[in-house]
Amino acid sequence: MSWNFETDGEFQKELNWIEDFVRDEIEPIDHIVADYGFDLNDPVRKALIPPLQEEVRKRKLWACHLGPNLGGPGYGQVKLALMNEILGKSKCAPIVFGCQAPDSGNAEILAHFGSPRLKEKYLQPLINNEVVSCYSMTEPEGGSDPTGFNTTATRDGDDWVINGSKWFSSHARFAAFNIVLAKTAPDAEPHKRMSMFVVPAGTPGLENVRDVRVFGHHEHKGTHAYLRYNDVRIPSDHLLGGEGDGFAVAQTRLGGGRIHHAMRTVGLVRKALDQMCERALSRHTQGERLADKQMVQEMLADSWIQLEQFRLLVLQTAWKIDKFDDYRVVRRDIAAVKAAMPKVLSDVSGRALQLHGSLGASDEMPFGEMIMESYRMGLADGATEIHKITVAKQTLRGHEAAPGLFPSGHLPALKAAALERFGPIIAEATK
Ligand SMILES: Cc1cc2nc3c(=O)[nH]c(=O)nc-3n(C[C@H](O)[C@H](O)[C@H](O)COP(=O)(O)OP(=O)(O)OC[C@H]3O[C@@H](n4cnc5c(N)ncnc54)[C@H](O)[C@@H]3O)c2cc1C
Repeated sequence: MSWNFETDGEFQKELNWIEDFVRDEIEPIDHIVADYGFDLNDPVRKALIPPLQEEVRKRKLWACHLGPNLGGPGYGQVKLALMNEILGKSKCAPIVFGCQAPDSGNAEILAHFGSPRLKEKYLQPLINNEVVSCYSMTEPEGGSDPTGFNTTATRDGDDWVINGSKWFSSHARFAAFNIVLAKTAPDAEPHKRMSMFVVPAGTPGLENVRDVRVFGHHEHKGTHAYLRYNDVRIPSDHLLGGEGDGFAVAQTRLGGGRIHHAMRTVGLVRKALDQMCERALSRHTQGERLADKQMVQEMLADSWIQLEQFRLLVLQTAWKIDKFDDYRVVRRDIAAVKAAMPKVLSDVSGRALQLHGSLGASDEMPFGEMIMESYRMGLADGATEIHKITVAKQTLRGHEAAPGLFPSGHLPALKAAALERFGPIIAEATK
């Protein structure tokens, strides 16, 4: 029997170092480095991020999502979860630690499915954060049903030629390459119609229609590109995996990407809760602290309970990924984590805003942005509804319809069956 929630002492020392480093060195630069540190040509970013990355490398905490075969320590998901809880408090911490999305998932795709030429050109530079990348899957006609995507890739001699539009291709304007899902076999069964490709930045025909900005980021240029692929020609070895394997390749990155996002969200929610606690203890009204008001106490209690429930679900899912080493076995767990994540962040940051009053509603506090972030989380990597459908379908597995008109738990029938079974004993006992 083994059931333990403790962190081993040696790793706790690393977590303590990470906590101090994120608070003292990275959180301050969140206020001055734009675009979460993804614009490699930004002079402010160039001056501030690489020295911090060097510290992380020296500490051997670089790219901890990767196994030793790819230059990471191979810590596994539970340790990663404990780390990511800290990194999630800061916008730039993921890139300082070399584990930022979507590059982390795109590196996994290249490692598993890239040709030797693609790996040589992109994989190590991506892991080293010498380049960043883009994942280009969603289409303007709708992202929730990938079987309906219209972008095509057709063979022409030794090349593939891609045509179509993609929407919300995050970081395309910084990226060295895009990973693109396109239809290669329109008549095949739905999940074998698509294939995945690498399209290098600057390939003729790759058109950036505009960079869409998410609400609340008015000071920045948008980072979510609306792209057109107009006869974009790429060599045959830029296909990732086999023809028709697009969905299988996509799953390689999406499972990991979703759980890593959830790990970081634990940190962000904790940050909102910490700020709520500070405010409740600092602000006085009607002769007592906000912390002494029962309705405020309820807000604090509900927030702590939601956070701890979510954290346990995330950690248990991480533990299952380590144990089974197969994302298919933990599909329901990951979908549940993904579906729970926006609500926890929205609820807790909403209460934090409320407790800070007018200050909380202003842009002098981060809560408005956190609330918007919760809505973005409910869409990026798939809408919440889609993940709830997965949870429900998986939950129904192993269950059957009732054999008759009434449910199998119908109490009169259960009592009648018990009486029939124990009737002789009761008759004997009450003679
Ligand atoms: C911040 C952010 C970053 C993103 N980054 C990327 C990226 O890098 N690359 C990329 O390819 N995409 C990216 N996306 C796009 C994301 O994957 C899509 O937003 C998502 O898949 C939903 O697609 P959609 O926006 O077209 O919404 P739709 O498919 O139009 O759905 C709209 C709404 O309809 C409802 N709905 C849809 N289907 C169902 C259903 N079956 N049952 C019940 N209700 C349903 C849901 O409420 C859903 O939110 C990003 C999105 C955001 C917000």
